Amino acid sequence: MKIDVMTLFPEMIDFNMEIGVIGRALKSGIVSLQTHQIREFSSDKHKRVDDYPFGGGEGMVMMAEPIFRTFEHIVELRKYRPFLVMMSPKGKVLNQEIIKKIRKLENLCILCGRYEGVDQRVIDEIVDEEISIGDYVLSGGEIPVLVFLDAVIRTLPGVLSSDDCFKNESHYNKMLEHPQYTRPRVWHEKKVPEVLISGNHKEIEDWKKEQSTAITKKCRPDLVQKKT
Ligand code: SAM
Repeated sequence: MKIDVMTLFPEMIDFNMEIGVIGRALKSGIVSLQTHQIREFSSDKHKRVDDYPFGGGEGMVMMAEPIFRTFEHIVELRKYRPFLVMMSPKGKVLNQEIIKKIRKLENLCILCGRYEGVDQRVIDEIVDEEISIGDYVLSGGEIPVLVFLDAVIRTLPGVLSSDDCFKNESHYNKMLEHPQYTRPRVWHEKKVPEVLISGNHKEIEDWKKEQSTAITKKCRPDLVQKKT
């Protein structure tokens, strides 16, 4: 997957994407990522990218033209028009179903807003989908894009050691995962469930399924309802 990100803070993305599983995916070439500084595409001599909102109101709004030009530059550079997602608190709330759809794309571009948001006209003209990471407002789209890209990239073929790593995890099948334990067998007088050290694979699998069902019913009954 080839990913382009339009942002006023490329360093926030570049730095964080170098770390851990995602950093390894980038180094191995499974995925490529390039950030683009929107400010570089401002025609203003002071490189301004924001202005006052028409009709009044708090704060500033990101202007349409620098964003439009950044996207034009990406289309020219890539020789194709990538699917464009904007991180936005008004978008569809991110979930594993959206990730399953996005991971199939070969080319993806993401727009990060700042200030009070982005001039609606450029959203209407170039954005294909708005995605939110939850019903709250952050100061910019950079933290949301890190959340979104981490969730997408870890499901790409070859990033984790096998697809089972994410397919058995919480939310993939609208279930929460069973509890996990590691050594030592006894910690603070609490023992690891006996079945997990029994060596009986069938019983272990049954236990994991039972636990997963019980935890989902207890913590996220809404997921159980969605499944039926
Ligand atoms: N005034 C806007 C509103 O009330 O809908 C909020 C603007 S927010 C301060 C600035 C930018 O942060 C947004 O354009 C978006 O890119 C990003 N952002 C903030 N919260 C977000 C969320 N929950 N999900 C995704 N992006 C978010």
